[in-house]
Amino acid sequence: MDPAVESWREILAPQALDLCLLTAFLALAFVSFFRKSVALKYVTLVASVGYLGFAKSSLVSVSDVFRLTDLSVPEFKYSLAWYAFMLFVVFSTVLWGRVYCGRVCAFGALTQLLDPIIPRKWRFEIPVRVEKYANLIKYAILAAVLVYFLITHDVALPVRYVEPFWMFSLFGTTGMWVGLGVLLAATLIVRNVYCRFLCPVGAALGIISQLTTVFSIKRWSECRTCKICEKTCEWGAIRGPKIVKSECVRCDDCERLYMDQKKCPHWLILFKRKGNTAVPVSTLS
Ligand code: SF4
Ligand code: SF4
Repeated sequence: MDPAVESWREILAPQALDLCLLTAFLALAFVSFFRKSVALKYVTLVASVGYLGFAKSSLVSVSDVFRLTDLSVPEFKYSLAWYAFMLFVVFSTVLWGRVYCGRVCAFGALTQLLDPIIPRKWRFEIPVRVEKYANLIKYAILAAVLVYFLITHDVALPVRYVEPFWMFSLFGTTGMWVGLGVLLAATLIVRNVYCRFLCPVGAALGIISQLTTVFSIKRWSECRTCKICEKTCEWGAIRGPKIVKSECVRCDDCERLYMDQKKCPHWLILFKRKGNTAVPVSTLS
């Protein structure tokens, strides 16, 4: 064998720990997604901030979208974790929608962990008629940064000033930290403000979700008139009977409600039709 040619053992050895940790984290994300467990979801969010955010600084960025436009992807054999991560993001989005945004992205996880700080009554709820137009801002930002990149081939400016993900590698200037402070303060008042209205990565994944999502969230016929799920959704993704796939991050909140035989009118009506008078016991923890 040519000594200059590396064996797969030599290629894999330095990447093994990274691959093992990533596999364990993604397995946790999948288990929490399929179990619909609140506790496991919060474990995943904390792991995302600690591991993907501060330890690994690995988030999907507009720079990855740029890479796809000019095919400047990293060399496969030395970047196995990057490819595994990207495959996870693409396949999970095609199959279930924005699972990445709901529990894997470290910035989205951080903002979700900030949620309990402010009581619900102090928050500003964006009216639905405003929300559906405000959602479009992130698509405009995605289009603008793509045009900017295609003209200038400058990756640094959008990565620094359009995304706050640099915060996990702690390299920002004073102005960037002030901007981030304002964004996080706004997030306390308007829930998930960056993810819902500004994030170009969320916009790109939203487009894929809208076009694909093989396994959508089920709806009952009662969803046409019932508003319980709509009020529960903190992402403004439920509008009447319809779930807007591009905005839904598969956070589970409505699905847990939907399966709850004690709360969801579908089950309560069914239960009464069968002649029962007692309220059924919740099937979920
Ligand atoms: S919308 Fe953007 S910041 Fe929010 S979770 Fe998705 S990728 Fe992360
Ligand atoms: S509550 Fe339901 S519709 Fe809203 S983001 Fe979560 S899973 Fe999607």
